[in-house]
Amino acid sequence: MEILPVKGTHDIYEADAAVYSDLENRLIYMALLHNYKEIRTPIIEHTNLFVRGVGESSDIVNKEMYTFDDKGGRSITLRPELTAGIMRSIVSNKLYANADLPLRYFYLGPCFRYERPQAGRYRQFNQFGIEAIGAPNYLQDAEVISFGYHALFILGIDNVKVYINSLGDEASRARYREALKEYFAKHIDKMCGDCKRRFEVNPLRILDCKVDEDQEIIKDAPKLKDYLSNESKLYLNNVISLLKEVGIEAVIDDNLVRGLDYYTGVVFEYHVDKVEGADNVGALGGGGHYAHLLKEVGGPDLEGVGLAFGIERLVYVHSLTHKGGYELGPDFFVIGMNQEIIDKNFSLADMIRSKGIAVEANYEVKSLKSLLKTAVKKHAKFAIIVGEEEIEKKRLVVKNLRSQEQTTVELENFEATLESLLNEYEQESAKLALEGLK
Ligand code: AMP
Repeated sequence: MEILPVKGTHDIYEADAAVYSDLENRLIYMALLHNYKEIRTPIIEHTNLFVRGVGESSDIVNKEMYTFDDKGGRSITLRPELTAGIMRSIVSNKLYANADLPLRYFYLGPCFRYERPQAGRYRQFNQFGIEAIGAPNYLQDAEVISFGYHALFILGIDNVKVYINSLGDEASRARYREALKEYFAKHIDKMCGDCKRRFEVNPLRILDCKVDEDQEIIKDAPKLKDYLSNESKLYLNNVISLLKEVGIEAVIDDNLVRGLDYYTGVVFEYHVDKVEGADNVGALGGGGHYAHLLKEVGGPDLEGVGLAFGIERLVYVHSLTHKGGYELGPDFFVIGMNQEIIDKNFSLADMIRSKGIAVEANYEVKSLKSLLKTAVKKHAKFAIIVGEEEIEKKRLVVKNLRSQEQTTVELENFEATLESLLNEYEQESAKLALEGLK
């Protein structure tokens, strides 16, 4: 019986996996460039970490968590995001003690949300993110936002739009909550069940509702910007001005409130614009300022700001504009024509690899024709053919699988020859790529 993958999960392999690794490595490079250090936290955490951190009124906690009781009767949840776990880790390990603030961490790993699978939305997906904790001013917010923008550039994702908003300080949010309560009180009877619940717990979350009929009501709701204090407006403007200085035009979006309860102050999202097929996947990433999350999970009252990208969405948008180029294969495929030679090639392949050259070899006797076919299918650049005659004359035949040219290489100087053949191949590839652009 065939066992199917779990709904909302996906396998990533071969060329696709290479794209994932490539994009992830570039994000890590960007993180190191900004002096963020890696942090790895467990996939499972106590459920109440997310209830307290991400928030009881969020859709994530209410509807989307993979929660179970373990054999000891503890309520455990597969992390739906990483920020709360990182705050927990900072507290558990007292990472704030004796540290020069801000703490700066980057992370990469799988998250789990029981959402309806659709374009760009999975039940297991990967996030890369950064967190800066302990720098309560607008420079840190601006740095995190510009980090994300420049990281997308390094990934080759253009036409990025940054949307920004401020959720305001405590007093602004309290005033706004009251205004929303007053407005929605007149409409809540007609709204969906989720909105009724949100109305009771946190009316701000009603703005996240995706139901079309509710959207009609939501569009006329009071706007957050009309309730912001002067300090909050100034803070937001400071962030926007700093971003301008590094070439980023952040656009204010009044409706941007983000779906997690821990955000306070500045929030932001990255979207791509004008790329066909990209508009249906939603935000590539987003983040914001969180003033009290660390304290909420038992730590000191240090403010933080962070962002998270969904790797699946980055890979998808990348694939829309970067066709091909990820055909993975070895530099050389070593072909032995009989079992004795194949056995000898085991150490030959090992020696070539020790020079930093990628090699695979055949392990079973087959015809030359079928082995050459295999080499081509595996995207090898060259085949090295070793038959009885080659062993006798202490030489190898190297076949360029693109041009079909064959070269005979003496065994004594074969290392240097392999390297120069590879160099010539790469030069030729660059020339072909340039011609393709013309
Ligand atoms: P959030 O943690 O909700 O702020 O989401 C941050 C980013 O994670 C989003 O902008 C998406 O790129 C990605 N993301 C969130 N949920 C999913 C999902 N179900 N599937 C794939 N990516 C997701």
